[in-house]
This record gives sequence, structure tokens and C-alpha cells, in this order.
Amino acid sequence: MENRGLMLNKYSVGTGDRFAHQAKAQLQACIKALQSGIEVVPVWNKSNREHMIIGSEPSSVRQAADAAVKALAWKLPYFCDADHITLATVDRFLEPCDFFTIDVADFIGQPPQSADIDRFVKRHPELLGSIQLAGVDEAFDITAEDLRQAAQKFLAAVKKAGEVYRRVESAKGAGNFIPEVSMDETDRAQTPVELLIILAAIADEGIPVQTIAPKFSGRFNKGVDYVGDVAQFEREFALDIAAISYAVRQFGLPRNLKLSVHSGSDKFSIYPAIHAAAMRLNAGVHLKTAGTTWLEELIGLAEAGGDGLALAKEIYAEAFAHREELCAPYATVIDIDPAKLPSPDQVRGWSSEQYTSALRHVPGAAAYNSSLRQLLHVGFKVAAKMGRRYLDLLEANEAVIAKNVTENLYNRHIAPVFLGRNT
Ligand SMILES: [Zn+2]
Repeated sequence: MENRGLMLNKYSVGTGDRFAHQAKAQLQACIKALQSGIEVVPVWNKSNREHMIIGSEPSSVRQAADAAVKALAWKLPYFCDADHITLATVDRFLEPCDFFTIDVADFIGQPPQSADIDRFVKRHPELLGSIQLAGVDEAFDITAEDLRQAAQKFLAAVKKAGEVYRRVESAKGAGNFIPEVSMDETDRAQTPVELLIILAAIADEGIPVQTIAPKFSGRFNKGVDYVGDVAQFEREFALDIAAISYAVRQFGLPRNLKLSVHSGSDKFSIYPAIHAAAMRLNAGVHLKTAGTTWLEELIGLAEAGGDGLALAKEIYAEAFAHREELCAPYATVIDIDPAKLPSPDQVRGWSSEQYTSALRHVPGAAAYNSSLRQLLHVGFKVAAKMGRRYLDLLEANEAVIAKNVTENLYNRHIAPVFLGRNT
């Protein structure tokens, strides 16, 4: 399964751009990384869910990406990611996208045919017993029962990934896209041992996977910091990397196969662990951030004052009024404390500084309000409904917004993860 086509670079950052107005500002953050001596290529990701809520087409992501690359004369690769697609949703992404995140989380735990389990266990005697991994001081000890249990749990999901992969392959041709398999949107984390067994099954299924997104332990809420045991995360992350390099050698998966961290954005407290493990084990990383760029748009509008600030306040008031309906699709990935949400009346009296410091994610800052941030994060539907009114103000305030978008992506994400720097 060697790569004979598109290959994802060692370091890449997935960024969302809900309203397709910030691709240039986002790319500028990759240019800053390049100027600091590291190649981090951009991947513009947008899920079917986001397209449905906004009423946009996948081709708009491609147009925005192409235009930004042209305007800034970016010479390295870049990609458009059909994020979290399934067989039911993949079709309209086939043309504009060249990166496909095949989401099979819903199929985890569905029972496979028992003959499939037998065949899998028989085919992988090398997974039984003690497996020594390079670069970590722990070994995997896998019993026949462990192998059967993992097969029971994951084979149906991997088979589904194979179906989606082949659907994309038949439309685009092998090697003309980057396949990722994601299993993060489920309630239980996968262990490093399970990851290794999943990769064996993915290789059996013939998927030349270049990135894999397991669910890590701890909570990855949207737009706010990690909640969990950072030391345990670091240990698991290193073991996952070791499992991947073992799987690449053992099962012939693509050499550039790496972890994709579906961060939901802003997992600042685990960024040093990701950086340290990736450097120590010489591993690549794909850091997928969520749509927090839209929050930088709001911050920019608020910072601009005048009409921009007024609109940012109006968006908060609307989001507050519809908070239950806006939060419902994201219930498992947000933790909002209703008591911490300021009333729209209160917010109406805020200055630019009060609005931006409540929303801007500066950990430890007294004014930072993670409940308000999460509500606005899922509140993009409110801005989408405003249509031209919102977009016109984005365009009128482009400079101040772009500055926030670039600084946020570079200083808070790229620099800590890829350069090990907190700026
Ligand atoms: Zn995800």
C-alpha cells in the first residue's frame, strides 16, 4: 500500500472557516510558521453538519482555499477535507475535496459476522503475545480473547470505512486523495492496543490510510481547553504513535500515516504533551481545529466597535434566546453552565474590551468566560441567518478580523504544537 499519489506532509493543521471569508488570514498563519522554519500545511475542513447549518456547498471551501493560495502565492501543498463524511453524505464532496475524513464512529460496537472475526484472528497471529514497541518503555500484551473482543467491537466499523473509501476511490481514482479514518465521535476512548488492532483491520480492508483519528481519553469540548489527566494523555499519545509505526512496518500501511487530533480547538493544556511526544518519536501530527475562526470574526467585529460591536452583541442575544436548540446537536461536546451566561441586557452595555476579553480564550484571564465562548461557538447559525448583513460587516472590518484570525491560529495553536513555543 505504498503511496503513489497525493501525500500529506508530516505536519498539517486542519482549520475551519464557516463563512468562507478567512482562508487568507488562516493561510497567513502557515506562512508565519514557514518563516519560523517549519512546514505546516493547511487543510480546510468543513463537515456536512456545518454545511447543512450554514446552507453552504463544499465547492465554496475549495474556491476560498484556491483563492487564498493564489493571493498569497503559497507553494506547498494544501487540501480540502470532507470532514466526518459517511456513505450517506459523501457524494457532494467528491468533486471539490481531496481529503476525506471517513467517520465510522456510529458503527463501533455493531456485531460483525462471526466468520469475519474468526478470519481476522486467524490472519493475525503476530498480534498475539507480547509486542515490543520502538521508542516507548511499555510493551503490548495481547491475548486471543483481547483480539476477538476488539474484532467484535471494531470490525464492522472498519468494513464500513472500506465501503466509503472505495466509493471515493471509484470517483476520484486511487492516490488522488488523502484518506483519514475517524472514530472520535463516540463515548469511549480507544486504547493504544485497540488502535493497533484497528490498523490491522484497516490494512486488511485495503485502505491506504494517511491519518487516523482515535478518541483519546479526557474531554474534548468545542472551543475550550482539555478536561482530563494530561499525564495519562501524554502516555497514551506516545503509545498511539508507537502503535502506528509498528503497524506501518507490520502491515505495509503508508509510511506517512500519523495521528489526527480532532481537538475541537483550544486544547492548550495538552499541546506541550503532543509536541514533546511527536518530537521525541519523530512522528507527524495533523491538528484538526474546529470552527473557532468564527469566534475570531466575532472578536474582530467587537474590537472594531460601532456597527461591528452592535452586531456581535445582537448575535449573543439571539444565541442566548435560542440556546437550547443551538446546543442540542453538540450536547456531548459542550459543557455550558447556564448560571455563568451573562444576560443579553448586560452584554448590551459592554465595551469592545469587555466583549473581547470575555470571548477571547486566554487561559487564566479573569474576564474569560468559557460558557459564553461555547454558546457563541455553537451559535454560528445565528450569523448564518443574518446572511449579507453579517458578511458585509466581515468584509468592512477585514483587517481587524484577519489580524485576530492569524494571531489566534499561529500563536495559540501552530506555535505550541509544532514549534513547542508558547507565544
Ligand atoms: Zn472529529
